[in-house]
Amino acid sequence: MSESAAVSQDTRFFGHPRGLAVLFFTEMWERFGYYGMRALLILYLTAAVTDGGMGFAAGAAGSIYALFTSLVYLFGLPGGWVADHVIGQRRAVLAGAALIAAGYLSMAVSSPIAFFGGLGLVVLGTGLLKTNISVIVGQLYAQNDERRDAGFSLFYMGINVGALLGPLVCSFLGEKVDWHLGFASAGIGMTLGLILYLAGGRLLGSAGMHPSRPDTPEAVAALKRQVWTALGLFVVVAAVVAGLISAGVISLDPESLSNAFGVLLLGITIIFFAWLFLAGDWTPVERGRLWAIVALFAAAAIFWGAYEQAGSSLNLFAERDTNRAVAVMGEFPAGWFQQVPALFVILQAPLFAWLWIRLGKRQPSSPAKFSLGLVFVGLGFVVMIGASLASAGGTRVSPMWLVATYFLHVVGEMCLSPVGLSTVTKLAPERATSLMMGVWFLASAVGNYLGGRAASLYETLELPTLFGIVAAVPIAAGVLLALLVPQIRKLMGGVH
Ligand code: GLN
Repeated sequence: MSESAAVSQDTRFFGHPRGLAVLFFTEMWERFGYYGMRALLILYLTAAVTDGGMGFAAGAAGSIYALFTSLVYLFGLPGGWVADHVIGQRRAVLAGAALIAAGYLSMAVSSPIAFFGGLGLVVLGTGLLKTNISVIVGQLYAQNDERRDAGFSLFYMGINVGALLGPLVCSFLGEKVDWHLGFASAGIGMTLGLILYLAGGRLLGSAGMHPSRPDTPEAVAALKRQVWTALGLFVVVAAVVAGLISAGVISLDPESLSNAFGVLLLGITIIFFAWLFLAGDWTPVERGRLWAIVALFAAAAIFWGAYEQAGSSLNLFAERDTNRAVAVMGEFPAGWFQQVPALFVILQAPLFAWLWIRLGKRQPSSPAKFSLGLVFVGLGFVVMIGASLASAGGTRVSPMWLVATYFLHVVGEMCLSPVGLSTVTKLAPERATSLMMGVWFLASAVGNYLGGRAASLYETLELPTLFGIVAAVPIAAGVLLALLVPQIRKLMGGVH
């Protein structure tokens, strides 16, 4: 029996290959660190210098949050490319985990350079780890193995167990003891993940071991051209940015940098789609499907723009406007609210899995599910309008407001996130599947950017207005998408 056949017939981890356990726990610890650190990020940036924080106003802090969380997802694109063509997924995950751990440990040092340098390492590391670990999950199964979808669901559970535990530990240590101890605990989590990944490597067989090396001289030449084009583009962008800075068009303060990055992100998105349409000689059916992908991409970006405010504006609302008093510890850490969505995912995911199976052919089409996702995430912010009205004049409101918001957000997530990647992959022309993984991460990058920028307005807009806008945009987009469902289904050309 060949090695990969042995892997694909293995059922020793809840009916799945044992390698899945290795990936499950590695990703669990990675998300432990990410969500643990993210629960502290905006609070640390805005905390007064006398409280050990960085003393930024919400405008600058939201801009830094936007820049960082967006880059984390954007670097999934080069991270996927490097793994595919140069080092393979296995080594990419290893390097990623080491860079991330180094990043958090650097943030444990009390110095702005160590802090921002650490964020940079986390961007590079997560870009290498996050996409590629999912690719290895897929490779654990033979092409026609029916356990594949269930394997991904189990993996999504690992993500959320990490997201549940990270803020529990890091927010307690960070908010109650010392910010840097919180960041250090994120680093220790990632280090544990790295050790597990190394120790469990042999259970992964040959999955993700070999990059798709080009085998003809023409392909090698094409790859070299791609590398040079990418490097050239990078140099051009860097030179333009440096030029704009020295000409005084962009200054180095967080808000201007973040604005400039927003323009760059928009440019990348437009170029990406323009290239997608122009590069391939797609058949009319494929072209229709690409348009369907554009619509779903826009929906996903808006969805994550609202949803990912868990770590930004909603985290500030937890800290400043929510009553967190409990008998034993005075006030529980604001970041503990970050555990609520993860807990709801763990509770709701099996229910939704059951519901979709139960509904069978009567279940909503994937564009209809996307539209439901948008409406639910918007409704979550309708609740926040109520919460912010109740908090007017400095009253600290009941924690149940945020809990209700997160409940609705996760209902939305259950409609959109699990179907998202699989729909986008099915819609993609066969020769562009891994590119579509990139599209999906690009949507998260745009969303995270929007979610951070919304938090920049926390101190300048009235909260009911801010949350009102954040509620209105996804609801309007969801209604528009619902109206377009028949057209989009037609464009999808037989994919459901
Ligand atoms: N919560 C999920 C994760 O951390 C998805 C986040 C996203 O794609 N924006 O993997």
